[in-house]
Amino acid sequence: MATEKFLQQLIKNPDRLNDLVEEAKNVAFEHGLIMHTPDSSEVVTYVPFALFPSPMPKAALLQAQAVQTHFNTLVDKISRDPVFLEEALAGTIQADDFTARLFGIYRQVQLEGRTQSIVVGLNRCDYMVDRREDSLKQIEINTIAAAGFGVFDCLPRMHRKILKSVGLLEESESVQDRQQTPTMTAALAKGWELYGQENAVILFLVEDVPLWKINHRIIENDLRNRNIPVIQRKFKDVCTRGSLDGDKRLFIDGLEVAIVYYRYGYMPYNYTEQAWDARLLMERSMAVKCPDISTHLAGTKKVQEVLARPGVLEKFFPEQPQAVEQIRATFTGFYTLDMGPEGDRAVAMALANPDDFVLKPQREGGGNNVYGEDIVRELQEVKSDKRRAAYILMDRVRPRIEQNILVRKGLPIKLTSVCCEVGVHGAYVSVGEEMVFNETHGFLMRTKSIDQNDGGIKAGAVCDSPLAV
Ligand code: ADP
Ligand code: MG
Repeated sequence: MATEKFLQQLIKNPDRLNDLVEEAKNVAFEHGLIMHTPDSSEVVTYVPFALFPSPMPKAALLQAQAVQTHFNTLVDKISRDPVFLEEALAGTIQADDFTARLFGIYRQVQLEGRTQSIVVGLNRCDYMVDRREDSLKQIEINTIAAAGFGVFDCLPRMHRKILKSVGLLEESESVQDRQQTPTMTAALAKGWELYGQENAVILFLVEDVPLWKINHRIIENDLRNRNIPVIQRKFKDVCTRGSLDGDKRLFIDGLEVAIVYYRYGYMPYNYTEQAWDARLLMERSMAVKCPDISTHLAGTKKVQEVLARPGVLEKFFPEQPQAVEQIRATFTGFYTLDMGPEGDRAVAMALANPDDFVLKPQREGGGNNVYGEDIVRELQEVKSDKRRAAYILMDRVRPRIEQNILVRKGLPIKLTSVCCEVGVHGAYVSVGEEMVFNETHGFLMRTKSIDQNDGGIKAGAVCDSPLAV
């Protein structure tokens, strides 16, 4: 590929390389690929990025996009199936306090009777292409606070500009344009419209640290352009100033809330006792949730493992063998660590060949998985009791290896062997059993050095655009 040849040349000329990286940073600023620095609300920096778009097989991109609306439907069906969720998570909630706490809220809402039948889902399915079989393999489904639109929408434009600036015109045309934000906000707008109160607001439940404030504002602006009022609040605001009226309508600061859109609340450290109270209040309310507690639980790694068992997908799609086939084609091997002979076999298998697996707790946001010798250490510790059910075991995908230059503060500028993970966004609105909006649009790529196990942008990966090859 021309980019690869170009990279080999470029790396031999450090002055030119440094100039190009400086120029690329300016292109990032110019296009708005920016975030706040963790310690200041007054300082912004670029979101770490790959200097050139990384190649990704066209067929894999098409496959991932084609299956996405089925995944939207699947997540929604799971969220509406209390028997399934109860069974799937029975062992996990005995071993993992965080999932147990979420499940406690779920049960309470179930007992009271699910008040709001409308759900808005904004999710992202992540994949790698396994180099051994050249096949698309799903890494995970994110059903809460899935990132990758907003500021990230400018990535293709940015990469095209960088490619053009170095004369790689053909490549610049292979970078597909994308604008995910309008598709994602269209789902929120649909949910808001169905809620049916012109003055009611969409509440973005945001983090305490304003790292992604600009990103959230871009999404917010898109909604405002549709004449939908948006407010941003934190858990503590909801706890101190939120309330339900007699009909369980949610109010904060005198405003009725049509939708709670969680951009936060997926990790244990996001929650104080006050925050748990706020989450319960919102879940009990008539406000539409994006996602509601059951859709949040549908996105756990444990559910992913259960879905991969024989016959499970068929139950959710009884008359759609093609959907089942498309979804299953993206699964790699999953193994339960629940107590029992099957779990014992999985433990033995992982201990014998730890490098072939990833051990995953029920956590999101990167940096939580266990690899290689750490799997042995962890399993030796928990293998004989129910603590092991906090995890699932997954086959380790061996992604294709590419060459790129990662632009990230603190990383040396050098040619790096990298691997890529492509995320496909899905947006849906369901009312009861009916999907009234079900769409997908565009990709988010994240690229990391092959020396690094974990792949979140926080964990050291950078954002990227797929160059369809
Ligand atoms: P999180 O919810 O923390 O993002 P993921 O399941 O996405 O959890 O895992 C984090 C990262 O670990 C991924 O981005 C990917 O780089 C790596 N990873 C996860 N599962 C696998 C796997 N089965 N094979 C190879 N790498 C994996
Ligand atoms: Mg992930």
